[in-house]
Order: sequence, then C-alpha cells, then structure tokens
Amino acid sequence: MHTNNSDGFLEPSKLCSHMSLQGVTVIAITDHDVVTTLDGDTLDKHSNMQVIIGSEITTQWQDNSIHVLGLNLSSDRGKLEQLLLENRNIRKQRSHKIAEHLDNMGFKGSLDYIQDKYKPVSIGRLHFARFLLDSGYVNNIGKAFSGVLSKVELSDFAWPSLQQVIEAIHSANGSAVLAHPLKYKFSSKQVKSLIKDFAYFNGDAVEYISGNITHKEMMSIHDIIGDSGLKASIGSDFHAPMSHNNFTYAKYCTWLESFQVVWSDWE
Ligand code: AMP
Ligand code: MN
Repeated sequence: MHTNNSDGFLEPSKLCSHMSLQGVTVIAITDHDVVTTLDGDTLDKHSNMQVIIGSEITTQWQDNSIHVLGLNLSSDRGKLEQLLLENRNIRKQRSHKIAEHLDNMGFKGSLDYIQDKYKPVSIGRLHFARFLLDSGYVNNIGKAFSGVLSKVELSDFAWPSLQQVIEAIHSANGSAVLAHPLKYKFSSKQVKSLIKDFAYFNGDAVEYISGNITHKEMMSIHDIIGDSGLKASIGSDFHAPMSHNNFTYAKYCTWLESFQVVWSDWE
C-alpha cells in the first residue's frame, strides 16, 4: 500500500485508521523508492495491526523500468537507503523533464502545484496525472496517462539494475518481490524472460495477484511462476480510498494454495 510519502493519497496514520476501519489486521507499506515508517503515536494507536515495512523500488530491466518490492525490511538498511536516495534523485530530475514537457503543452505550473498540494518525499508520474485531473485538463487519471504522460520520453533516466536492487533488499534482510508482472504490457515471452532473470539474480517471489488482476490473467502466469521456483505474493496496490477496487485477501487466498507464499519464512 502507498501513503502520501509517494503517490498514495493518505498520510501513514490515516492509512492505518482507514484500514483498521475496514477490519484489516496486516498491511505492508510500500511507497515508491522510500521506506515509510510509523511514528510512536500511530504505532500505539494501532497496536493491534501488524505493519510490514517495505518499499516499491524502481529498477531497470533491458529498456524498461520495473518495480521490485522489498518486503519485511529490517531497521538496519544503510545500503538500501543509499540506493533509494539515488532513486529519489532520479525521480526529481525526471519530474523536471515532465514539468517542462507539460509547460510546453500549455499545462503550466505542475511542479509548484504538486509540491504545494501533495508534498511528496518521492515524486512520481501519478502526481502529474492528478495535477492534470485537478486542473480540469483531463476527465480521468487513465486519460492523463494515455493522452499526455505517455508522450513524455523518459528512457534517458537509468535506474539501478535488478541485481543491484535485489542485493540491496537482501542487505536489509528483506524479501525481493517482482511487482505486478502483467502491468508492463509485455508479451508472454518477455514476462517469462523477466521472471527467469528475476530468479537468476536471487529474487524471492513474484506478485501472483495484484490490484485488480483478472482470473484469466492470473492463470496466464501460474505455470511460469511455478516453473521459476519463486514464491508467490499478493498485493492490493492501494493508493486512495476513492479510486480503490474491491480487493480483499479473502477473495483471492484460495488461488495462492498451490504456491509457497513469500511470508512463509518470516518470523
Ligand atoms: P512512476 O513510478 O512514477 O513511473 O509511476 C508509476 C505509477 O503510476 C504506478 O505505480 C501507478 O500507480 C501509476 N500508473 C501508471 N500508469 C497508470 C494508468 N494508466 N492509470 C493509473 N495509474 C497509472
Ligand atoms: Mn508499481
């Protein structure tokens, strides 16, 4: 799940309150390229809820940026924090390029708007999509991506490799999980190749179920994950209460039965 430290809508304490009200007892907070931890007051208030510390880390695979989750991170994560700091710097540079592009299209003032309204520690494309929506330039977030943001060329920003990111996660005693393998619009051959490389570099698991994946999509990667020897994981990819689907663990948990799950060897 995401908080407003990256592109989520709720601050960490509000995310915990929102999830408590829904009856959720375990959450993993995985902001983009930043580790969100909870302050003492929030921990006291939500002592019944288990919070897994994590991050959704941007990495480079061939010509694509890919997301890898570091889950169940320890407090000893100096090497990982250094990598995340560098990634947030790339995000900053990238945000200037996006803002310049939007300025040229007549959508002016995006960065000031984002800093003023959202104050993210880690800025992302979803912030720009929200700016376009909030300003009335598009009718929905999907249009902001397909109609505007997809036209900004961002391939000149190189992220750390899969191997570097997996090693950094392991140095913080975390599990490395390939996020939403079907979201990259890859051919099935590419998905297979990505999962194979992820296993080769000692990744731990693949998100078998994420966001609003369909049953048919799940089935399409079932055997690929099985053959890779990787464990499976599940994630809601929660960003905001108003945009969320009806993702529940109960809805999907039976589909995990044929896999070893990533949390099986956690304390
Ligand atoms: P970034 O990591 O800054 O490149 O932004 C990626 C994030 O943007 C993803 O985690 C999604 O939350 C969001 N995103 C990407 N494409 C879309 C889309 N078509 N509709 C809605 N959100 C999207
Ligand atoms: Mn992602």
